[in-house]
Amino acid sequence: MWTLPVPALSARTVYLTCISKSRPKAMTRLMALEEEVVNAADRFETAAAAATLHTLADLRAKPADKTDRAELKKNYTQRMSRKGNPGRDEYDKLKAAAPLGRCPLCGHRDVETLDHQLPKTAYPLLSVVPFNLVPACRSCNTVKGETVPTSAVEQTLHPYFDDVGKEKWLFARVHEVAPAAVEFYVNPPSAWDTVLTARVHGHFRTFELASLYGSQAAREMSSLRYVLKRKAPSVVGDYLRDEAAGLAEEDPNLWRAAMYQALADSSWYINGGFALE
Ligand SMILES: [Zn+2]
Repeated sequence: MWTLPVPALSARTVYLTCISKSRPKAMTRLMALEEEVVNAADRFETAAAAATLHTLADLRAKPADKTDRAELKKNYTQRMSRKGNPGRDEYDKLKAAAPLGRCPLCGHRDVETLDHQLPKTAYPLLSVVPFNLVPACRSCNTVKGETVPTSAVEQTLHPYFDDVGKEKWLFARVHEVAPAAVEFYVNPPSAWDTVLTARVHGHFRTFELASLYGSQAAREMSSLRYVLKRKAPSVVGDYLRDEAAGLAEEDPNLWRAAMYQALADSSWYINGGFALE
């Protein structure tokens, strides 16, 4: 859900780097697949930019040979992600592209791995294609698993190609019952087209962000209770509004920005709701 610059790595160079120390039999096989990989990478880039990754279904059957498919997947598991192997530098460069080391899929946890936007088991030709590899936390990588989009609206957001960062789409509302809690929800601007709107909703569901943000907010509100109790009642509202404004300036769709805005908007919370346990 957070945008990253498109990697300045060529699919062909990364592929050739990964296979460079393969054993002779595997090398012969992998060299024969070079053009097919580069063509698949070109098609991926065009489709990702147009948000039509679901139209690449024919690539799932390619290559047909089982050993070819296994060798292509090994390019990632053995020749790219494993330390000390030829593609590891490229792997590390892709991982390092996320600002502050924050996972662009949840916008909260630390980057620990690379996620295949289209999974390598279904799309072995895309195993080491840079545009298909997104820095991610372990949880986002696991929860998405082998999911393959079968329609435009099923595509989760792609941090290199989808930019939803400028306008506010993440909101929270306060449950005005002690102890106070907030619930997060998605409400994209009405000017967004229906596909993008559905994709943001789907992304939020797929990565279980309501639950992630809800539990983080519960922790923060527990500490906040003590901070607010020490303040004069008349300044609590201003304090929350200032926090919300500062966070929104950094990024309007941070869960903390949404949380503080919701708290600042709740007169129940400001007028003593925060202190109830
Ligand atoms: Zn994540």
